[in-house]
Amino acid sequence: MKPFDFVQPATTDAAIAALAEHSPNVRILAGGTDYVVELKFVTESPGVVVDVSRLEDLKGIELTDAGLRIGAGVTHTEIMEHPLIAEHAPAMIDAAHTVGAVQTRNLGTLGGNLVTCVPSMDSGPTLMALDAQVTILGPNGTRSMDLVEFFVGVRKTALQPDELLLEIIIPKENLGKPAGFIKFGLRKGQALALVNAASSFTIEDGKFKDVRISLGAVAPVVIRATKAEAVLEGQAVSEELINEAAKVSVTEANPIDDFRASKEYRNDLIEVGTRRTLQAALDIANSRANG
Ligand SMILES: Cc1cc2nc3c(=O)[nH]c(=O)nc-3n(C[C@H](O)[C@H](O)[C@H](O)COP(=O)(O)OP(=O)(O)OC[C@H]3O[C@@H](n4cnc5c(N)ncnc54)[C@H](O)[C@@H]3O)c2cc1C
Repeated sequence: MKPFDFVQPATTDAAIAALAEHSPNVRILAGGTDYVVELKFVTESPGVVVDVSRLEDLKGIELTDAGLRIGAGVTHTEIMEHPLIAEHAPAMIDAAHTVGAVQTRNLGTLGGNLVTCVPSMDSGPTLMALDAQVTILGPNGTRSMDLVEFFVGVRKTALQPDELLLEIIIPKENLGKPAGFIKFGLRKGQALALVNAASSFTIEDGKFKDVRISLGAVAPVVIRATKAEAVLEGQAVSEELINEAAKVSVTEANPIDDFRASKEYRNDLIEVGTRRTLQAALDIANSRANG
């Protein structure tokens, strides 16, 4: 590990000031489950590391006028245990549950997961299926964007070196929207996703509405399978159409072929994952309709 300076600001203002002062030779540290591993292998010092793990503004899960606000510093364990997540976005619990093991979930944050921006991240698909937005804080104040725009490439987001991710918002119109998440790995625990997927929709007058299908580990960033969504949107609810959409989702992905799994196998997982998450959303919608 190369030597570096370490600062632990007490407020977001102080954190932003530290980022501005040292940018671009500065990095943010939250739970450290990704970054400390990275630090061990860097060939050049990061310069200054700004620890944001104690910032109150990055904590908490609450309902606001905009929707469900989740601080970027909220851990996967907190997501799994929070009643507001259980009530309004329970598929996030399924996703959080699949991240690493207990120790990783206790330290690892939602913000760190999104900013690391690996294709196999487990929190991305569900949030994207719920049209999540992110709030970024920088020297000129805050800016917001859809999560789908935040992911720019492998390990690259829309964040500038002097900005931090403040919060994630699930818009209020999507609270409680039926949604499903699934992850396929080489084993049940402590496995990176070969493919992960999330879907959501509502049903209006017996037709699919606001269909979202998101896939992870199938492209450089988590993607929306928009052609598959279009197969369902506005159509009468049927399992045949779900099967058709699942087939179409495969055409929108370009998974890798490596020692962990062949491209052909991953394509099978995409179809199965899309179908199962759509079915999970349908089961939720049906159970609500039936009281
Ligand atoms: C053993 C092990 C198993 C794992 N298993 C999984 C898994 O199954 N699924 C999965 O998705 N991930 C997994 N991970 C990866 C990791 O745990 C998660 O991505 C975690 O959520 C990262 O959060 P963190 O707070 O530890 O981030 P850190 O390591 O602190 O930071 C990660 C990156 O995000 C940046 N960052 C952090 N917070 C902010 C912020 N608020 N604003 C701007 N930038 C920020 C940092 O600068 C860094 O670049 C695993 C890691 C380990 C070590």
